[in-house]
Amino acid sequence: MLKKIDRGALFLEKQQKIFRCPKCHREMTQKEKSLICVNGHRFDLAKKGTLYFLDHQIKTEYDNEMFAPRGRMIRSGMYQPVIEKIADVIQLGNMLDVGCGEGSFLQQINQLKANPVNIGFDIAKEGIYLASNQPVDAFWCVADLTNLPFTDQSFDTILNIFSPSHYREFKRVMKPDGCVVKVIPQAGYLKELRAVYHPDGEAYSNEAVIQRFTEELHIDHRERVTYEFQIPEENRLDLLEMSPLEWQVSADVKSNLAKNPLKTITVDIEILKGH
Ligand SMILES: [Zn+2]
Repeated sequence: MLKKIDRGALFLEKQQKIFRCPKCHREMTQKEKSLICVNGHRFDLAKKGTLYFLDHQIKTEYDNEMFAPRGRMIRSGMYQPVIEKIADVIQLGNMLDVGCGEGSFLQQINQLKANPVNIGFDIAKEGIYLASNQPVDAFWCVADLTNLPFTDQSFDTILNIFSPSHYREFKRVMKPDGCVVKVIPQAGYLKELRAVYHPDGEAYSNEAVIQRFTEELHIDHRERVTYEFQIPEENRLDLLEMSPLEWQVSADVKSNLAKNPLKTITVDIEILKGH
């Protein structure tokens, strides 16, 4: 079996045309375990077979403590109906997972529908480190959403699951007949958790995010998916740790909920597909 770094090099050898230099925007070619642009900017594969395209480390709010429980929740089946819908609408070919985190969504989508060329990127290197362990044929890198290290018109599908968008870059790297598939939380998303963490919080709405999508792209498909998920006992504490909702919650509120964790949770999301 190939080592991860050799698998990474093999991917770059076959797919080097997809990449462009984030520093000077020129083409790059694979040389052994690196990508090098015509101006000599060079990006070396890490042991895990991943690439790091940032100039400097960007501090993010996400870390291992959140990625690991999030991955376990995704694998527990919490998002299975969502993953099935996504697998239905993707266009096979070159697929980019924007803000892939620890990679469970990309892995699970591929289990339902094997896609030939998969690239996941995130700004958090902790996420990419975990993603490189996923049992899926994919390439993982750390990159900046606003300056993607990919050539124009490279992707058939851009996945944008619970992550920020950058439409100028999406339109640039999307093939002319490609698509963006975006998943947005809706009003009822994690409402049981929200009720405990932020009982006085305002009603949750993502109308502005949806509005923006419709302004930037033609909508081909739009679907709301709402259900209650019975949380397996071993995942009940994971739910409490996986979500940004918990960031501003006091230790008291958290430890009380941990003593008597939620048994069901509502998933309420909108899937938008556009081009
Ligand atoms: Zn360069």
